[in-house]
Amino acid sequence: MKHLQSTSLVLLHHHLKALRLPTITAECEKLARQAAADNADHLTYLLQLTELELLERERKAAERRLKAARFPTHKTLEGFDFAARPSVNKVLLCELARCEYIDRRENVLFVGNPGTGKTHLATALGMAACGRGYRVRFFRLTELATLLLEARDERSLLGLKARLAKLDLLILDELGYVPASKIGAELLFDVISSAYERTSLIVTTNLPFESWTEVLGSERLTGATLDRLTHRCQIIETKGESYRLRDAKAKLREEGAAKGGSSSGRDRPRRSALEGGQTSS
Ligand code: ADP
Ligand code: MG
Repeated sequence: MKHLQSTSLVLLHHHLKALRLPTITAECEKLARQAAADNADHLTYLLQLTELELLERERKAAERRLKAARFPTHKTLEGFDFAARPSVNKVLLCELARCEYIDRRENVLFVGNPGTGKTHLATALGMAACGRGYRVRFFRLTELATLLLEARDERSLLGLKARLAKLDLLILDELGYVPASKIGAELLFDVISSAYERTSLIVTTNLPFESWTEVLGSERLTGATLDRLTHRCQIIETKGESYRLRDAKAKLREEGAAKGGSSSGRDRPRRSALEGGQTSS
């Protein structure tokens, strides 16, 4: 009898492997013991097993989507201090994290000075979209321009554009740091045009619209790009000073206060050691 059981188990594992059900393979014996102990019927047991398999598949798919999106760092809305950036509407951002704008093929534009959280928010929205099953890709704008130029030289532009067309959300970070070359700007414009009403775009920029010509070159191209990008678009301004700067200033203040408060304690021996060193030479 025992022999028969172990033979069936080997066969079962074989069949489950052929059916590509690794989680059921791993969990079926443990859950069978649990079901027997709980007096659960066969259908409940089967339901539990299939649920586990589905959950694990979804977890792995989300992990793959996150990897494929190539975010430079992982950021979340929970990790964003909205109190420090009052120009950013928390309710709106939470609504955007639900991704309905992606279903409507709308865009999001973050405009503001360096260090004000544009990349953080764009990444957080991108990660939220990955979690909800959307295909996302994050690019620094210069990185995409280089990739497009290389693909053009290697005659693989169509392939690259086909891969971009499969995305649900394309994030273009840092429009404005390095002026794109004329051909680079045209290729970028082509990507933005192709995405129009098909793929949502999130763009971050430190440039006001009137300065976009400096990056994209011609006024005609800038006008056409802005026209497509801002049609059905949420524009979010991250006004105020850099968060990094704010952080650094706060740290300095803290250090200053700590020094002021403990000058009679920790600082003194160090100072006297220094003075001692000087007098002895
Ligand atoms: P930007 O893209 O506007 O230059 P970043 O998003 O790169 O700015 O922000 C710079 C750093 O400051 C990042 O590490 C980011 O996570 C952090 N940061 C910016 N704003 C906030 C905020 N309001 N709350 C928490 N962290 C923030
Ligand atoms: Mg940035």
